[in-house]
Amino acid sequence: MKKILVTGGAGFLGSHLCDRLIAQGHQVTALDSLFTGSLKNIAGLAAKPNFTFVQHDVVDPISLQALGASGLDEIYNLACPASPVHYQYNPIHTMKTSVLGALNMLELARSTGAKVFQASTSEVYGDPSVHPQPEEYWGNVNPIGIRSCYDEGKRAAETLWFDYQRAYSLQIKVVRIFNTYGPRMAADDGRVVSNFIVQALRGEDLTIYGDGTQTRSFCYADDLVEGFIRLMNSPDSVVGPINLGNPGEFTMLELAEKVLRLTGSTSKLIHLPLPQDDPKQRRPDISQARQYLDWEPTVALEQGLERTIAYFKKALAA
Ligand code: NAD
Ligand code: UDP
Repeated sequence: MKKILVTGGAGFLGSHLCDRLIAQGHQVTALDSLFTGSLKNIAGLAAKPNFTFVQHDVVDPISLQALGASGLDEIYNLACPASPVHYQYNPIHTMKTSVLGALNMLELARSTGAKVFQASTSEVYGDPSVHPQPEEYWGNVNPIGIRSCYDEGKRAAETLWFDYQRAYSLQIKVVRIFNTYGPRMAADDGRVVSNFIVQALRGEDLTIYGDGTQTRSFCYADDLVEGFIRLMNSPDSVVGPINLGNPGEFTMLELAEKVLRLTGSTSKLIHLPLPQDDPKQRRPDISQARQYLDWEPTVALEQGLERTIAYFKKALAA
């Protein structure tokens, strides 16, 4: 039994991670400001004796005492809004969340001796000129655009993770997550999979930004969480950054067509302006995840969409 802190634990991915860690018998503390997360996501864990929730903003330091913990073996740092709509809502706070949140979690790891995991992102590659993206690629990021608070914040956090390792020999793990979807995304999350499904189920027009030929690679949440845990449990020499994502690549028009077919919706497609700096293509090179973690996704897009559609049918009815 390990003592584990999950920041962002009431969010979409964080709550799935907490579920898995609790099922494995660990003592889990979920820390979350509830900015985009919800207590509903962790309602099933609330009564478990080995689960605790602490409402806190990672921008502010936190002590073991305030966490109600006697020690920590592992920290998973997931706290950060991930949808462009939400991270652009208060961009200065997003940057603080990435940078001050990183410093606070790394200091907590330093004082407790915990292994510390960072949820980084494919956004560190920006609008990539190398395709698919291997970890060696340094990226093509606009430092002053509307996505920069997130992209540059996550890049700075990676820098801090590696500087703390060099300075203090911390045990670190850094993952670069490519677009991930599944049950517990918020209906108003704003990302493309939840938008299209919610629009299709409500009979509203599906909003295609730009001409819809831009591509993304969509990973199902359960696959991703399996990769997180494999990385955390990997030998100390495996630190990353390591790409996790599903290499299947689809245009937004293809995604819309699949959602319409799987929901049986008669919604129409409408085109809205493409947001500034929207990456044109994205697909992970997962050779390292295969080699070091023996990991690859197992859920195909249509299968994952069916499960996510079933979730939203229930969530919208409630
Ligand atoms: P999410 O918005 O559902 O979850 C983020 C959680 O962090 C929420 O519960 C939110 O309330 C919490 N949070 C935000 N700011 C906070 C702060 N300052 N202090 C404490 N809690 C805070 O998004 P998600 O998709 O679950 O993303 C989780 C992590 O994974 C994020 O770090 C995100 O950058 C990263 N990530 C996700 C994806 C993806 O496709 N889902 C892709 C790349 C990276
Ligand atoms: N997108 C879209 N319609 C929407 C939401 C998003 O066409 O209602 C597009 C968006 O412009 C981008 C892609 O879908 O090209 C993925 O967007 P998302 O916000 O899900 O993630 P990210 O841009 O961070 O990869």
